[in-house]
Amino acid sequence: MRSFTTFNIQYAHRFYNFKGEAQYLHGHTGVLRIEVEDTINPGVNMVFPCNEIKKTAWHFIQNFDHALILRKDDPLLPAILDVYEKQGIRNGAPTNQMCGPAFDTELAKAYPECRLVVTKETMTVEGMIKIVYDLLKDKLNIAKISFNSGDNSGSQEYHPAGTMDRCPMCGILLDKNGVCPKCGYRKH
Ligand SMILES: [Zn+2]
Ligand SMILES: [Zn+2]
Repeated sequence: MRSFTTFNIQYAHRFYNFKGEAQYLHGHTGVLRIEVEDTINPGVNMVFPCNEIKKTAWHFIQNFDHALILRKDDPLLPAILDVYEKQGIRNGAPTNQMCGPAFDTELAKAYPECRLVVTKETMTVEGMIKIVYDLLKDKLNIAKISFNSGDNSGSQEYHPAGTMDRCPMCGILLDKNGVCPKCGYRKH
């Protein structure tokens, strides 16, 4: 069975060199949906608690919220960084507190201190799905990711292998020693 949860993400981007309106900087509310597939954990009668999917994913995904997302070869990138630098906000601001980890993968690099994500490819809905899967594939048994941004929507199905060991008391993943990080339950 599947458990799924959705996120709203407010962001600005553009499709650099795209022959259409989207080559101009603009913004969206993106809706991201992550579906997790596994057996039903009989202790809690859930695949996985949705608030835990949310917590695990939001750790990374918050980097895209109220953020600017630009491709690495976009000439707007040095121009924006120059403005942020001169304004004194390039390396952070007291009001910028919703910062995720500064991840750096093959597809995307996050600069949480100035709410910027630099991508290898154009950040279309398809591009976002690839980035999200890459960030979370080892942390969740992802069966499907969907992303909607304005009139554009995309989705991709995956085939998660096996089952993850979850706590029968609170449903979250056990650590590598078989211990629940939340309630201390031990498998053995
Ligand atoms: Zn757009
Ligand atoms: Zn537990």
